[in-house]
Amino acid sequence: MTVKYLEDLSTLVSLCKRRGFIFQSSEIYGGLNSCWDYGPLGANFKFKVKMSWWKAMTRRQDIVGLDASILMHPTVWKASGHIDGFSDPMVDCKKCRNRFRADTELVNGKVTCPKCQSTDVTEARNFNLMFKTFMGPVEDSSAVVYLRPETAQGIFVNFENVATSMRKKIPFGIAQIGKSFRNEITPGNFTFRTREFEQMEMQYFVKPGTDVEWFEKWKNERRAFFTRLGFKEDKLRFKPHDKLAHYARAAVDVEYQFPFGWNEIEGIHNRSDFDLTQHQQFSGKKLEYFDEANKEKYIPYVIETAVGCDRLALAMLCDVYREEVSPPAEGEASGDVRVVMGFKPEFAPVQIAFLPLSKKPPLQEIGNKLRDDFALDMDADYDETGSIGKRYRRQDEIGTPLCVTIDFETLEDKKVTVRHRDKMSQDRVAIDQLKNYVQDKLRDF
Ligand code: ATP
Repeated sequence: MTVKYLEDLSTLVSLCKRRGFIFQSSEIYGGLNSCWDYGPLGANFKFKVKMSWWKAMTRRQDIVGLDASILMHPTVWKASGHIDGFSDPMVDCKKCRNRFRADTELVNGKVTCPKCQSTDVTEARNFNLMFKTFMGPVEDSSAVVYLRPETAQGIFVNFENVATSMRKKIPFGIAQIGKSFRNEITPGNFTFRTREFEQMEMQYFVKPGTDVEWFEKWKNERRAFFTRLGFKEDKLRFKPHDKLAHYARAAVDVEYQFPFGWNEIEGIHNRSDFDLTQHQQFSGKKLEYFDEANKEKYIPYVIETAVGCDRLALAMLCDVYREEVSPPAEGEASGDVRVVMGFKPEFAPVQIAFLPLSKKPPLQEIGNKLRDDFALDMDADYDETGSIGKRYRRQDEIGTPLCVTIDFETLEDKKVTVRHRDKMSQDRVAIDQLKNYVQDKLRDF
């Protein structure tokens, strides 16, 4: 048997659609470019990705959670620099009329159309990526608000509220998961770059002078997190930025090798005291921290870890996809292919599936009862349609770690057969021992 990993993103896109992970938004109307809907399995998977991040962040004594609103006071975006500076250089190809970002399509220093390779393009125009809308019934300039392009500002403007209400002493962090919006010039690569996406950001407030040390600590923390997620080691790298944003003292990208190349999934930044200083200036409210122990006042520095939930989820989907190709049987041209989403059990949208071997009521009854019982603790599925071979394949394709078959012997010996997704081994297990057996297997998968 040979194993093949994901080579072409379109293979994953079609699996995601076929198996209910991700659909094109508004598909019956022809779709809306760059917007995607997570189907039943995708929504569950993404929820688990978020939970793993949320737990890693907020179950520490030094980090608390937040859920700020998407619409914020427009001055926030003036202070943050987004109104003046959050733009990408946009150009049009004079030959094929393709519109694209000039800064990402440089070939030998020349802006080159990614579609037709022409270098005959218009002058670059700065295009602000924020979505604008109006608050209230009157659509005039005083009613303009923006859909937030990042979740971080919700954290900065609540720094004082959180520190006071939670009696937090520096160093401490605030973590948030939420939707962000960017009117990207060239969205694409499935859910990699979209105009509406979810971010998981954590801002860690530290004493100036300790920021370099904390930046290193957070790089290590995040490395450990990605290792726990189970990524293939050679597919992930930490890459320091060559160029830094004006407010940043250090920055590193966590990159994953997607089928379309190495790309950022997370940024870790030392943002200095830029953000709180700006908000202090624009709001007129003091955002200094008073260190009681040392009787000193300062504006904290911020170490930020910012990961896109959809990008992380996409990287995980790419990483676990595999095809197991059997050698061709006598007289056959090609071998059988088993597609497996090799999720770690905690991320599998379904952890266990109950599959009665026949649609006879006594077997259905046992299967349904077991499903309901297991569903109290995990994601459990019940499926009685199609041959058992087909049902196994369906579960393999969505990454279900364990399948349990109920057969006529079950009625006699009160035992079921449990099949392991990766080993394809089968064990006969007494129903009254099943919970313990499953817990052990999932833990040691
Ligand atoms: P990129 O260079 O890819 O545009 P960025 O450096 O602007 O990303 P950040 O502002 O640091 O990204 O945002 C943090 C994270 O948010 C990114 O690492 C990415 O995972 C996610 N993200 C940013 N823009 C998008 C988008 N358009 N679609 C999906 N995820 C995004």
